[in-house]
Amino acid sequence: MPKYHNFCQGMQTYEPFDAKNPYLATVATNRQLNQAGNRHLMHLDLDISGSKIRYDSGDHVAVYPINDISVVNRIGQILDADLDAVISLNNLDEESNKKHPFPCPTTYRTALTHYLDITNPPRTNVLFELAQYATDPKDQETLRKMASASIEGKGLYQSWILDARRNILAVLEDMPSLHPTIDHLCELLPRLQARYYSIASSGKLYPTMVSICAVVVDFQTSTGRRFKGVATNWLKNMVVTDNSHKATVPMYVRKSQFRLPYKASNPVVMIGPGTGIAPFMGFLQERGKMKEQGKDVGETILYFGCRHRNEDFLYQQELQEFQKIGVLTQLNVAFSRDQEEKVYVQHLLKKNMEHLWKLIHTDNAHIYICGDARNMARDVQNTFYDIAEEAGGLTHTQAVTYIKKLMTNGRYSQDVWS
Ligand SMILES: Cc1cc2nc3c(=O)[nH]c(=O)nc-3n(C[C@H](O)[C@H](O)[C@H](O)COP(=O)(O)OP(=O)(O)OC[C@H]3O[C@@H](n4cnc5c(N)ncnc54)[C@H](O)[C@@H]3O)c2cc1C
Repeated sequence: MPKYHNFCQGMQTYEPFDAKNPYLATVATNRQLNQAGNRHLMHLDLDISGSKIRYDSGDHVAVYPINDISVVNRIGQILDADLDAVISLNNLDEESNKKHPFPCPTTYRTALTHYLDITNPPRTNVLFELAQYATDPKDQETLRKMASASIEGKGLYQSWILDARRNILAVLEDMPSLHPTIDHLCELLPRLQARYYSIASSGKLYPTMVSICAVVVDFQTSTGRRFKGVATNWLKNMVVTDNSHKATVPMYVRKSQFRLPYKASNPVVMIGPGTGIAPFMGFLQERGKMKEQGKDVGETILYFGCRHRNEDFLYQQELQEFQKIGVLTQLNVAFSRDQEEKVYVQHLLKKNMEHLWKLIHTDNAHIYICGDARNMARDVQNTFYDIAEEAGGLTHTQAVTYIKKLMTNGRYSQDVWS
């Protein structure tokens, strides 16, 4: 079967679907998960029926988002460009196996909307190239300095670009003398990347549906601008309708190593605060199905964490239902802000250390951690060292070796991102 990179044109698609040939999945559900608070946590179901895509719980779904139209329009306005002009960017490097950096011919509007990254802070090489278009020598100097390897230049890049989260539009707005050609800008900007999500459903129970659990990125930068994450804001605005204009998401599935134990009778300990709960919804569905089939399913324990019981206890009803039918044998929830002292999942793990140590050391339990890579995953790992020391009587060095061995043996798995 031929492959078409077709999600902009909306043409018919052919399997197999992968990074180069994503499937246009219809959005079947898009609902807010949190009851209160100023964040937006959401659950989406993507309909993949007819695609022949298969997935296992623990896999990732990659989605190709589109950029915020208002940012695209503003770039066009600042650069005085006719966004609907048809263009074709050709690779001058004849040895490159890519003739065009993105599908061409196209329009500036399509390139800036679908193919180019206009949201992340521009890299130093982009700033260096842009410098030639600044008519004010001060702007030229600033851009060149930020692109340089000097300590001062690096510091300026860190504070003016990275810390202030200036994207290309903010750079153009804050340097009015900077007026690059739109052609060169399109050539310089990196490709818009797919975003990955840990699939929040089980392919065994829902073979025609891929679920996503995500939090919308939306915050104010130090320059007073509103930073809106590309994919999450685009997903948030997906309207599920019955008419012919169905909201679609270009997607494909990426296999992962994050897998339930081969033997259902092995206990599992899942630690997933916030959207880290995602793959565990799939795990629970799958353990539930195995239980229904009469299999011997081991202890299934979840450590979830959120801010407030009445605000962002994601999937509360579903989790309580899993508990009621005996699929989830223990539900531990750390409500970090419901009391004066902050309580996180690692505090609850520590409280239950004797039982956890028995599960790990005697019962062959598998441990899974999902969510924030920056702090949570490290804090949880340190807590497991503590558990091995305090409940298992190991020295710190032995505890570290013990947990590392669990990792090597596939019994301590992490699905984390920052
Ligand atoms: C394997 C994998 C699995 C993942 N699974 C999930 C999942 O199940 N659910 C989920 O929600 N996400 C998940 N993610 C993250 C997801 O891929 C996206 O990165 C995330 O949704 C943001 O995408 P975006 O396009 O909306 O934001 P982008 O446009 O990519 O912007 C994100 C940028 O904003 C920065 N940022 C965010 N908040 C702030 C803040 N308050 N202050 C300063 N900077 C900030 C981030 O550091 C990042 O650089 C996963 C990532 C990976 C790699």
